Amino acid sequence: MLFTKLRLTGFKSFVDPTDLLIKEGLTGVVGPNGCGKSNLLEALRWVMGENRPKAMRGGGMEDVIFAGASTRPARNFAEVSLVIDNSDRLAPAGFNDEDQLEIVRRITRDVGSAYKVNTKDVRARDVQMLFADASTGAHSPALVRQGQISELINAKPKNRRRILEEAAGISGLYQRRHEAELKLKGAEQNLARVDDVVDQLA
Ligand code: ATP
Repeated sequence: MLFTKLRLTGFKSFVDPTDLLIKEGLTGVVGPNGCGKSNLLEALRWVMGENRPKAMRGGGMEDVIFAGASTRPARNFAEVSLVIDNSDRLAPAGFNDEDQLEIVRRITRDVGSAYKVNTKDVRARDVQMLFADASTGAHSPALVRQGQISELINAKPKNRRRILEEAAGISGLYQRRHEAELKLKGAEQNLARVDDVVDQLA
């Protein structure tokens, strides 16, 4: 699975549709301060399902939408598309039928986020799981924020372990375990209610 293209539309400073082609090997992005280099990395994290506005350097998720400039009005939506070459068929099960995957996330003011994989509507969870199972995603240690190295040095062992888990591709399993535990709890509560009803009838 290789990321081949990132397209940003109305995302932060990228008001007009902008394509970043990612070739094999090393890709460098250079530019003056404030030109949008970090915004590119945030777009990558965002399309993979990032749901913490703080990680996007914003107060709310709608802050990723182009907020307007002296010569351009604000936009009503932001969209990021990530194209993945899947010709090696290494995508996780459920997403492995095609040679190319296009993941699209769009946020519309007062509506929220919607996701698509190859034009099909999917849930945020599906996209997060796709990347978690592929040992990457919004929280991948491969995406290094400014200041993150010093954070890591000072981190508690438990937080450092999370990085190894992400790299091993087992963070999706933790999410599934958490969801299974919630379902189990719900089932236990329902059983307790059934017991109450049975007691009343007895
Ligand atoms: P540095 O080299 O200083 O780290 P950078 O190239 O990484 O800078 P970014 O931090 O990616 O730059 O981009 C910051 C720019 O993005 C600022 O000019 C800011 O005004 C602009 N920006 C951020 N959010 C929005 C938004 N919602 N609408 C319009 N512009 C935005």
